[in-house]
Amino acid sequence: MIPVRGYEGHKVAVLGLGRSGLATARALAAGGATALCWDDSIEARSRAEKAGLTLYDPMQPGGWTGIVALIASPGIGHLYPAPHPVIADAWENGVVVDNDIGLFFRSFATPQWERFDITPRVIAVTGSNGKSTTAALIHHILTDQGRRSQLAGNIGRGVLDLDPGRDGEVVVLELSSYQTDLARALAPDIAVFLNLTPDHLDRHGGIGGYFAAKRRLFAEGCPERSIIGVDEPEGRFLANQMRETANGGDPVIRISVTRKLTGGDWVVFVRKGHLTEWRKGRQVQSIDLRGIPGLPGAHNHQNASAAYAACRSLGLAPRLIEASFQSFPGLPHRSQLLGVRDGVRYVNDSKATNADSAAKALMAFRSVRWIAGGLGKEGGIKSLKGQLAHVTKAYLIGHCAEEFALDLGDTPYEICFTMAEAVARAAAEAQSGDTVLLAPAAASFDQYPNFEKRGEDFMARVKTILNA
Ligand code: ADP
Repeated sequence: MIPVRGYEGHKVAVLGLGRSGLATARALAAGGATALCWDDSIEARSRAEKAGLTLYDPMQPGGWTGIVALIASPGIGHLYPAPHPVIADAWENGVVVDNDIGLFFRSFATPQWERFDITPRVIAVTGSNGKSTTAALIHHILTDQGRRSQLAGNIGRGVLDLDPGRDGEVVVLELSSYQTDLARALAPDIAVFLNLTPDHLDRHGGIGGYFAAKRRLFAEGCPERSIIGVDEPEGRFLANQMRETANGGDPVIRISVTRKLTGGDWVVFVRKGHLTEWRKGRQVQSIDLRGIPGLPGAHNHQNASAAYAACRSLGLAPRLIEASFQSFPGLPHRSQLLGVRDGVRYVNDSKATNADSAAKALMAFRSVRWIAGGLGKEGGIKSLKGQLAHVTKAYLIGHCAEEFALDLGDTPYEICFTMAEAVARAAAEAQSGDTVLLAPAAASFDQYPNFEKRGEDFMARVKTILNA
């Protein structure tokens, strides 16, 4: 745990008592603050009370008296479509609002670090898609090469649950736009911006607000090294803004998976499946990514480029990074190869909850028997065009099945409603060389509690087929 610094002897309110809220309350207490906890849900409150935390409703008359800060969970809206009433009331009463990421950055460095030979570093990864994979890949490379590393974010621990930094250690953080928007302190040593496509727009008042939230990691964080995907205009704008105008050398490494990059001090790009690093006008390395099992498709090549650049920034040799790419197992529910039977591959990408990530998954395979649908997002699959050429047939499930069918053009499809039916039909029709791919392009909440459960359902059904 990282004890929170700067609030010793003060009262701090904690709003939202999920995993990160509970960790925040404990970390505040460990740092000598009094954590006063609240959640709209009675169940969450009673869970917290059982865990020994103090419940307190700051909205009661005079409730903010003596409270110096409110720490809100990332799931709670702080501005759009409307601020949560407790957050709005905190503003009204002059109480600063922060989150666990802000607390982490103000608390991670400690006086003990003065005795270390190598100061711990923090790498923060943001972007619309690929954050978890990239963060996990960086962590994998570092640990595989015998470096100390801790991983935090959706796939790892909560930030305040991390262990205090050790000599020479690296902390890899996956940060969402909700987290970067609200954090009062952001101070990564290395910051990564992968890509930007519309998502969570209701929480940010549109694409401008969404980009601004991610941009804070760079504008407020002033990292010594910025690794920026420049395949969208926002990335090109950000890379340009972060460039040093004086003679200090360029602190930006630009990455691309769509074109050869020229200019700038340091670039990493992928063409025809080969990752290439150029530094000061000289080619440093080229790595063939095509056969790497844990990193299929151009989207994973983008993640690989970012992870490569981050590890190079830490001084790792290219051949070591390449060796660790080979042993990366990939993450569950992201282009996860489950097995092959009668020449048919089964791939679980349940995490493809929007059209963009589903498009990337489709592009990674040929002759796809595509299982898609669920709770559709704004725009549905209208943005998919060329990717549909990879689809032999779509098997549509969930709430938006019929809506998706309207946007499939000439692609054959079948409305299956449930996962059970879709897997059975796809497997029955698949021929050697096909890939049965779950990449729903929709949220899971119409039929499952979350995308993990949806992926597990798919995996269980596929397992039966693989073992038959
Ligand atoms: P995040 O943490 O940003 O949600 P994940 O690594 O969990 O990212 O991947 C989310 C989804 O996006 C998965 O469907 C995955 O296959 C896909 N994906 C992974 N990397 C990328 C990328 N660089 N660009 C687009 N889609 C990606």
